[in-house]
Amino acid sequence: MPIVVFTDLDDTLFQTAEKAAARAGDGPLIAAAHDRGGAPLSFHAPDQIALLELFDGAHLIPVTGRNGAALDRVVSPRFESFRITGHGAMIYDVDGAPLASWHARIQAEAMRLEPLFEALLRTLDEQFAPRAPAWRWRLIEDAAVPVYITVKAEANVPLPEAATLQSVLDARGLDDWRVHCNGRNAALLPPYACKAAAVRHLMELIAAQAPRTLFIGLGDSNSDTPYLKLCHFALTPRDSQIHQELWT
Ligand SMILES: [Mg+2]
Repeated sequence: MPIVVFTDLDDTLFQTAEKAAARAGDGPLIAAAHDRGGAPLSFHAPDQIALLELFDGAHLIPVTGRNGAALDRVVSPRFESFRITGHGAMIYDVDGAPLASWHARIQAEAMRLEPLFEALLRTLDEQFAPRAPAWRWRLIEDAAVPVYITVKAEANVPLPEAATLQSVLDARGLDDWRVHCNGRNAALLPPYACKAAAVRHLMELIAAQAPRTLFIGLGDSNSDTPYLKLCHFALTPRDSQIHQELWT
C-alpha cells in the first residue's frame, strides 16, 4: 500500500536553533533550512530525524505556510512529490510548476482580492506603526500570487492579540478570512489559503490513481488540525500547540 505523509514543516519537522536545542537535550542538531544568505537557520532534533527515517519510502508532501521560495531554502527533508505552500493557497505539481487545475482558480480569486490585501496592509500600517520594528507585517506572495499577510514579533515581544487581528478583519466584514497565531508568527488568511482544502484536492488526485493509499498527517498548529482530520492517522509533536490544547 502506498504511503503519503502530509507534513507541516516549521515546529513539526524542524525549528530554530534555540527551540531545537531545547528539544534535543544534548543530542546533535542537523541543519534543515537556510536563511536567505545561505546560513543554517532551522534544525532537526534527533527525534525528528528518527521520525523521518520511519517514513523512508513514503511520499512526503509538505503542507506549509512557507511560500515556494522559502520552501526552496529547506535542505532536509527533500520533497519529490507535490508541494503545498502559502498555508494551502498554492499547490506545486511533481515537476515543480504550479498545479494547473488549482492555480487557475486561486489566481482568479487572488486578483479579485488584491485591493483588499492593499487595504488591510494600510490598516496595519496605521494601527501597528507605533509598535514597529518589534512587530513586522507584510504581504506574502507565492508564484506571483498574493497568498496571505504575515505578522511577526521580535524575540521576547508578544504578538498582537488574536482579537486585535480579528478586529482588523471584522472592520471590513471579512467573515470568511481567518487569523492564525502560533508563537511569534501570525497570519491573516484569505479563504483560499486553506491547508485542508489543498490536502483534500491532492487526496482526490492521488486516490484516483492509487485508491488504497494510506494518508498520514503531521502538524503542530491549530491551523493544521483540519487537514490532520482528513488523514487516516495524525501525529503531533510533544509540546506543540495541538498537544498543549489537547493534553494539558
Ligand atoms: Mg508548524
